[in-house]
Amino acid sequence: MKAKAKPAKPSAPHRQSISQHLRYSLGTPEKHATLPSLYEATALAVRDHLIDKMMETEARYEKKKAKRVYYLSLEFLMGRSLGNNLYNLGLFEDFAQSLTDMGADIDEVRAQEHDAALGNGGLGRLAACFLDSMATLGLAGYGYGINYEFGLFKQEIDNGYQKEKPDNWLGDGTPWQITRPQEQCIIPVYGRIVHAKDRDGNYNPMWMDWKTLIGVPHDMPVAGYGGNTVNTLRLYAAKSSDDFDMDIFNTGDYLRAVEQKMTSETVSKVLYPSDAMESGRELRLVQEYFFVACAIRDIVNRHLKNYKTFNTFADRVAIQLNDTHPALAVAELMRLLVDEHALSWDRAWTITRATFAYTNHTLLPEALEKWPVGLMEYVLPRHMQIIFEINHRFLDEVKAKWPGDTGRLAAMSIIEESHPRQVRMAHLAIIGSHSVNGVAALHSELVKTELLPDFYALYPKRFNNKTNGVTPRRWLYKANPDLTSLITRHIGDSWVTQMDRIADLAPLSRDAAFQDEFAAVKRANKEVLAQTIWDTCRLTVSPDSLFTIHAKRIHEYKRQLLCLLHIIHQYLEIAEGGKTPEVPRTYIFAGKAAPGYEAAKRIIKLINSVAETVNSDERVGDALKVAFIPDYRVSLAEKIIPAADLSVQISTAGKEASGTGNMKFAMNGALTIGTLDGANIEIMEEVGEENIFIFGLTAGEVQAIRASHNYRPWEIAETNPAIKRVLDALGTGRFSPDAPGRFIPVCESLLSKYDPYLHLADLSAYITAQEQVEACYATPDIWMEKAILNVARMGKFSSDRTIMEYAKDIWNATPQV
Ligand SMILES: *Cc1c(COP(=O)(O)O)cnc(C)c1O
Repeated sequence: MKAKAKPAKPSAPHRQSISQHLRYSLGTPEKHATLPSLYEATALAVRDHLIDKMMETEARYEKKKAKRVYYLSLEFLMGRSLGNNLYNLGLFEDFAQSLTDMGADIDEVRAQEHDAALGNGGLGRLAACFLDSMATLGLAGYGYGINYEFGLFKQEIDNGYQKEKPDNWLGDGTPWQITRPQEQCIIPVYGRIVHAKDRDGNYNPMWMDWKTLIGVPHDMPVAGYGGNTVNTLRLYAAKSSDDFDMDIFNTGDYLRAVEQKMTSETVSKVLYPSDAMESGRELRLVQEYFFVACAIRDIVNRHLKNYKTFNTFADRVAIQLNDTHPALAVAELMRLLVDEHALSWDRAWTITRATFAYTNHTLLPEALEKWPVGLMEYVLPRHMQIIFEINHRFLDEVKAKWPGDTGRLAAMSIIEESHPRQVRMAHLAIIGSHSVNGVAALHSELVKTELLPDFYALYPKRFNNKTNGVTPRRWLYKANPDLTSLITRHIGDSWVTQMDRIADLAPLSRDAAFQDEFAAVKRANKEVLAQTIWDTCRLTVSPDSLFTIHAKRIHEYKRQLLCLLHIIHQYLEIAEGGKTPEVPRTYIFAGKAAPGYEAAKRIIKLINSVAETVNSDERVGDALKVAFIPDYRVSLAEKIIPAADLSVQISTAGKEASGTGNMKFAMNGALTIGTLDGANIEIMEEVGEENIFIFGLTAGEVQAIRASHNYRPWEIAETNPAIKRVLDALGTGRFSPDAPGRFIPVCESLLSKYDPYLHLADLSAYITAQEQVEACYATPDIWMEKAILNVARMGKFSSDRTIMEYAKDIWNATPQV
């Protein structure tokens, strides 16, 4: 909520603290404070509160012998922290007042903060929402990850093309972290195995001649709503050991020794910018191992400090693997227990399995992580041995269950016998865990029936579903303060921590006065976004038009192209058919393409080319506008989402595991146009079929078409003149007069029987659904009723609900309040 206009307190409580940080942390007298230094000092003042609460929280967990939950993730897409921490600590208005007294505006101060973009998209943002929920619920939850020096690249648009710029978000450091050099840990890597025997003559391999990496923890406090609990996100930076390579040093090759040091510090230098798999890159493998090895040491040390024994380890510790990126943790815990703490293999394995749980995030075959055996042996010789041993014992289990079934053996092995041989990380994660979950009901079913049917047959009880959620604190309370105050004025604020209570809004959905207020909030949010579009794109859009928003990573399966084909259709109807649409429309895109993903980058160029053509065609006027807002990130999403009338969620059915953008939009009163994919299905079940625009093939129908090898998109184009006209316009350079052939590859992929995303199969149904949208929007009271009901029926999609399910079903952990 905005600072209410209440009388200034005689002494605003936090002014002194901000002023002291200006003076003693930054060396700046208050009268010389600039906006960046005010931001820094304010953040440090808030950090003081966080640290007090963090220490109280840790003491409480120790006293209560809380079960600790560790969320291992290579990505945490945190966004900005200042506003979020102030809201969650309940200090927003006090700090706003203090800054006002100092002659500053809190919104301008907040805008100084650089997003912490330590993630690509949905997977990383899920981790961030989960941290918020664990802290709000009072669960002893810790995040573990990498403190990348460079987060996800910044996107600029140059002549319609994406250009990547480095994101040096840390700069001279961030006020939100506490660096703990005294808790650094030593991580061995590379080297060789000596096949020795112990005193009793048992095989006792020794890992020799390894290099060392040093992991330095940087702790980010994570405040729960209400401020009672402040948990920790521990991010490791890689440092070289001072004696990294004494051999080189001693030979007098000083410069080469320093170069070696620099190489080891590259381990935490940069986030890999692809949301699919990074295949075969040695640095990525070292990143995955590095952070997992740091985390496991820390987790084991904390446990031993409190309990002295491994007997209780799995009762006191749960570790969740966010996708397979941290799957090496299974091998690392085994190595620690067996090699360093001398547990028997069987005992170590029982503990390991009872500790780990794995979340699968994708069905796309190209995103399933595999590493060449040779690379793994080179980087992690002892871990590779351990993986072979795990696999050997596992295959015995498979042989016992299905004697003589060699096909199944090959399919289930951790090792894929290809050239080169590969380690299948998902198999390692499944075998080493007691729980495997998908992230939406449909996805979890497909994991069992399509992706991993053999594992499901072997371990049916291990598989379960945990439908994703998002934190209502960031995505409603903070992102949409006007809607928050409207809701709270009518039904109170219990929904902030008990999202089911948002259902109390439903009876107001047909109340004309409430509808007017709701519409006014939406309108104001659209004005703010219209200003952003002007600032970033130099394009004027009308807040009275229907804002249709497609914002997410650019990927073929998410089908930005389908959205574009409809826009081109509508454009040609207006420009050539002389038809005016029922309502003026503004189409807004945002999203980054992975730098090496050519097809996705071409889609960005096409969006910008269509925008240029449409926006400058006099025949179109204000009926149609298209905008691409650059540099999609959390802070931009917080501005875009509250301004949406229509949320575009049109992935090919069966391809989007869950989606979380879909939830954020609906929570802010956008209606959804979407396919029966991921969590869209559950959103439809909650809001009711009459309050969402569902169209297109089902996952089953998509599968049937693929299986029949009978997809004939060119026939669709021949028999549907509107679709043919769209493709002709694309293929003949209508949107690329400077290079008429530029978008021929797009046409070819759409017309190919191999188009895995079946764009043309869904286009006609999509156009029809968009006509229904326009008819509905033309009747504002009906539209508003639906929009309000969408908000009221989003209770299920709070990440608090998701986290309570993980806590009960997987972690056996309870809130410690
Ligand atoms: C929520 C979010 C995503 C995920 O969006 P999907 O539509 O689920 O793919 C990606 N990026 C940012 C910045 C987000 O906030």
